[in-house]
Amino acid sequence: MSDYRALLRELPAVDRLLREPVLINKMQHLPRRLVLQAAQETISAYRQRLSGYAGLAHPPESAVHIDLSPSILAEEAAYLAEKKAGMNLKALINATGIVIHTNLGRVPLASKAIAAINDVANNYSNLEISLDTGERGSRQEHLEKLLCDLTGAEAAVVVNNNAAAVFLTLNALAAGREVVVSRGQLVEIGGSFRIPEIMAASGAALIEVGTTNKTYLKDYEAVVNDNTAAFLKVHTSNYHMIGFTAEVETTELASLANKYRLPLVEDLGSGVLMDLSAFGLPAEPLIQESITAGADLVTFSGDKMLGGPQAGIIVGRGDLVSLIRKNQLARALRVDKFTIAALEATLRLYLDPKRALQDIPVWRMLTVLPDDLQRRAENLAEQLAGRLDSVSIEVIEGISRVGGGALPAAELPTYLVALKPLEGIASSAVVANLRRGQPPVILRLQQDRLLIDPRTIREEEETALIDAVAAAWQQ
Ligand SMILES: *Cc1c(COP(=O)(O)O)cnc(C)c1O
Repeated sequence: MSDYRALLRELPAVDRLLREPVLINKMQHLPRRLVLQAAQETISAYRQRLSGYAGLAHPPESAVHIDLSPSILAEEAAYLAEKKAGMNLKALINATGIVIHTNLGRVPLASKAIAAINDVANNYSNLEISLDTGERGSRQEHLEKLLCDLTGAEAAVVVNNNAAAVFLTLNALAAGREVVVSRGQLVEIGGSFRIPEIMAASGAALIEVGTTNKTYLKDYEAVVNDNTAAFLKVHTSNYHMIGFTAEVETTELASLANKYRLPLVEDLGSGVLMDLSAFGLPAEPLIQESITAGADLVTFSGDKMLGGPQAGIIVGRGDLVSLIRKNQLARALRVDKFTIAALEATLRLYLDPKRALQDIPVWRMLTVLPDDLQRRAENLAEQLAGRLDSVSIEVIEGISRVGGGALPAAELPTYLVALKPLEGIASSAVVANLRRGQPPVILRLQQDRLLIDPRTIREEEETALIDAVAAAWQQ
């Protein structure tokens, strides 16, 4: 048995490690502080391990042959330093087939949107100056006309995200007063956006009407009083009720709102500008339909079905939008120039729906034909078969999801590459290796099978994906 206390004294000091060529080399191109931290952490990890063994009656076999040469520790520190120097937030391959994946950054942007961000990042821009008059302009002007054009609304304002849009709208229209909402629409979205809580934070009092499954027009009318400030309709985007249900249509609620001179606010959640049912998907309410139906304000996200950057978009009546813009919180929730650039470029694509379908990744992924997916899955399977041993590979039929709390019931038929290790490595270990790989790959694991869905993988990513899977298998 080794004397671990004696080994502890043999551990090289930080200075000694930093004199190793591999670390001297790292310090030429990495920040010195990161190399130093890596050396300190490596030594301290060894110290902990040895102290742990010292307390054990029967240390593991591997512990007996522990090598404490500075060169070995320096190699480990060099690897750690390289890892520390890499970006924490980085690109990865989404092989899950979930198109709007909130944990994976929701959606990739159209290349026009990326180019627009690049342009304003590299240069000064007319963010808040009118090039016609030379006078101070509003950053909102770059988006308002386009949004009105596409939705038929009178005015528009864009804020940080849709949660902020709902919050700001309620604060501007109804702080200290009452807002009427159907019980069936008091939803929670994404774990932290809950209608009752957003409303409380905005200073508006929530008046719940109806029951969980049924709410009628008369329920809304019964609670109207002098202190009522607005009706709020929430699109229950992330859950789906079946059975005996009743919701009041936007047109009906709009006429009731009109009768009492109250604004009707509709939170559409995702917000869709093009009809999904044309592509075999369940119909979602269109933003322009809500405006036509009489909603006074409609709010939706920039980075769900719209396929743009994170943003909350409010469109509707000019007098109400101007109240929102003047609200003191508008400045705190405003969008930056990168968001404006990316959103403008994305919205411009919608001016020609054919372009939108081709150039906006979320639409391209949702409307790709099953034949194409089958061809790509078969091609991936064939290439993987050439790289992997002891694995069963097949192409099977499966389902992709829209995700992001949009269209929870929609099942998009797809073809999956299903991989199952036959011996050696466990599939859960491959999944973990893939997650830590370069680039990381995120996929579904179902009953010991790794499932790769080509729907959310760009063709340019396929080589990197195959290399990553091969590397993860061999570890
Ligand atoms: C997603 C969603 C939100 C929140 O939107 P973010 O842009 O993520 O802040 C609010 N309301 C509904 C109905 C939603 O679906």
